Amino acid sequence: MVEGNREAHQARRRAIRRTAQRLHTTFYEHCAHWSFERLEPAAPIRWHRERWILAGTALLATLLSGLIMPAWATAMKPTPTIEAHTLLPLALPKTPAMNPAASTVDDWQVVRVQPGQTLSDIFSGHGLSLTDLQKVMDAAGSAKTALHNIHPGEEFDFLLGPGGTLQGFRFDKDQATRAIVRFDNGQPTLSLQSRDMDVREEVAHGVIRSSLYAAAGQAGLSNAMVGKLADLFKYDIDFVQDLREGDSFTVIYDDVYRDGARYGEGDILAAEFVNQGKRYTAYRFKKGDGSYGWFSEDGRPLQKSFLRIPVDFTRISSTFSTARMHPILGRMRAHKGVDYAAPTGTPIHAAGDGVIKYRGWERGYGNFVVIQHNKDISTAYGHMSRFASERVGQRVKQGQVIGYVGMTGLATGPHLHYEFRVDGVARNPLTVTLPKPEPLPAAQMAKFKSTVVKPELARLEQIDRRIQLARINPPGTDN
Ligand SMILES: [Zn+2]
Repeated sequence: MVEGNREAHQARRRAIRRTAQRLHTTFYEHCAHWSFERLEPAAPIRWHRERWILAGTALLATLLSGLIMPAWATAMKPTPTIEAHTLLPLALPKTPAMNPAASTVDDWQVVRVQPGQTLSDIFSGHGLSLTDLQKVMDAAGSAKTALHNIHPGEEFDFLLGPGGTLQGFRFDKDQATRAIVRFDNGQPTLSLQSRDMDVREEVAHGVIRSSLYAAAGQAGLSNAMVGKLADLFKYDIDFVQDLREGDSFTVIYDDVYRDGARYGEGDILAAEFVNQGKRYTAYRFKKGDGSYGWFSEDGRPLQKSFLRIPVDFTRISSTFSTARMHPILGRMRAHKGVDYAAPTGTPIHAAGDGVIKYRGWERGYGNFVVIQHNKDISTAYGHMSRFASERVGQRVKQGQVIGYVGMTGLATGPHLHYEFRVDGVARNPLTVTLPKPEPLPAAQMAKFKSTVVKPELARLEQIDRRIQLARINPPGTDN
């Protein structure tokens, strides 16, 4: 290649790289190490003026340290007359701004809750009694509910006085508020301290080579975030069967900071998943009732009206058919549903919101539940080992457990027999066209499009473009 061409090519590449970096430094840092590196051959070293200066400085530093080190080592050699551990009392200047109560630093002991531990375990572990715990509960007032349910990993702080008496107890009332109970003068006091909460947006992009988890890990996503991502798209993508090499995802999410330190991951703000060439999107939107939901670009909730499969199954043991040989009856008979083999006791979920229409013994079906979802659609569940607590006439939400897998009635092994009925006629649950969920109402739709989709889609597209650019024109390749 002609040297001039190479020069121009290098300059163009640098310009592209600079533009990309300027567009989104954080993203660039994220993806630079996983996706571009292996395409980058060793670039020829070119000695610019900056490099000469750097090299000169490094050489000078090496020479100087060579001269200084021996002299320094000699100077530092201890002489026998000097006591190695002389303690010099340092008179610290008094800080006048400090209030007198804080002048002695309290020695709080931090305890992290272990799995299976109760609050009384933790108190007795500190030599404290149930009376002390009760005193804390009484003093905690409105913050008390946080102490009723404690979780592994949560932290509690104790302040113990002389003789191990309880002088203070600190805990999180909620994510953003710390509650402090003090017993300084015997009289309990409660103070609430609000924490400085802050969110920073992060971007991750990955391409699946071996598994979703591997790709997500490389993109810097935690397993919990992969769970959130899979949860968003679970209605459209079967993450066990449908993933292929080359599938990709881009996620824009919140990272939560508390008092300046990273606290954890927040919500996904926008996400894109390309599965077998088909693109799916998710956008977070604050609905009219103040709660958040995730919607596709056309403003329909990602959560569909029906789960395609209402049980976590091991295998499909029998499919829907108009005529099959019945395994027990030994004659041809239609199979009006799908059988999902699963261990006895596996929870069975309501496929959609609805009302329990039937719950009891049905010939052949054993323990049987029918849910009416709307005037046309009902779903039926057979062979249950037992029912959950909901009775006929009660409302159930999608995903709610309505019973457990068993082999009651005519069954050769534990499985769920699942039927999807439209106007009383059984349809194949695996292929029936499920009704699309209702889109956002007009006023909210306009807001969703302008305040969420427009800016987030622009960001997603910007990221996609940069990745395309990196693919078409990877650093170090000739055009
Ligand atoms: Zn069946």
